[in-house]
Amino acid sequence: MPQNLLALNWKMNKTPSQAISWAKELLAGLPQTSAELAIMAPAIDLQGLGWELKDSPVKLGAQDLSPHESGAYTGEISAAMLKDVGASYAVVGHSERRAYHAESSQIVAAKAASAIAGGLIPIICVGEALDVRERGEQVAFTLDQLRDSLSQVPVLGAGEIVIAYEPVWAIGTGKTATAQDASEMADAIRSALVGLYREYADGVRILYGGSVKPENIAELCAQPNINGALVGGASLDVASVVGMARAL
Ligand code: PEP
Repeated sequence: MPQNLLALNWKMNKTPSQAISWAKELLAGLPQTSAELAIMAPAIDLQGLGWELKDSPVKLGAQDLSPHESGAYTGEISAAMLKDVGASYAVVGHSERRAYHAESSQIVAAKAASAIAGGLIPIICVGEALDVRERGEQVAFTLDQLRDSLSQVPVLGAGEIVIAYEPVWAIGTGKTATAQDASEMADAIRSALVGLYREYADGVRILYGGSVKPENIAELCAQPNINGALVGGASLDVASVVGMARAL
């Protein structure tokens, strides 16, 4: 069983100085936990956080990265730049980027490949919208999105990826998938990964995301194929993060 990952997606919150104060507060009260903690911070916060967290067990990640290695791509940030400031992870294909930045699964696949090539672990997000679930097509939809988003991920990189199942209707809405629904999808994702990567599939962590909080994280992460959570709203508050870490 891979170690649980508690990935904190701050989205567009916390200035660099707020980020440092938050990290100091967390480190002062870091709980005992079996999970790995990682902060997915805004790009501009990463360098300061990298210094602050460098001797701690808390890892860092970006919320996005460029699919390109370097060059004339104004405004973009490469895997090498993220690695240089201490990032270990990069979220790719978050539903907010798919929706507001028109990111297709092909772009997500290129970003995942770019992360791996640059020594980062991509956290590849997939998940259905409400209308898809209402039609009962959530598994087929999510697995198609998964396969397309992995289309450029090399076989030997499979132990080096994380998948986050985030039903879009559960993100930031207070509605959580039931542990049973989340578990069914995680099982389907694991089977698809076995088809793609065979023996490497068991090492891939599958996270659940969507209104996770201290009260529901233990039940969700107790499911056999759920290896942690990607958390938005509840990641902004140190006390909630401590509560979630303790529950794992
Ligand atoms: C997310 O944005 O990845 C997320 C899961 O958000 P929330 O926890 O707020 O639903």
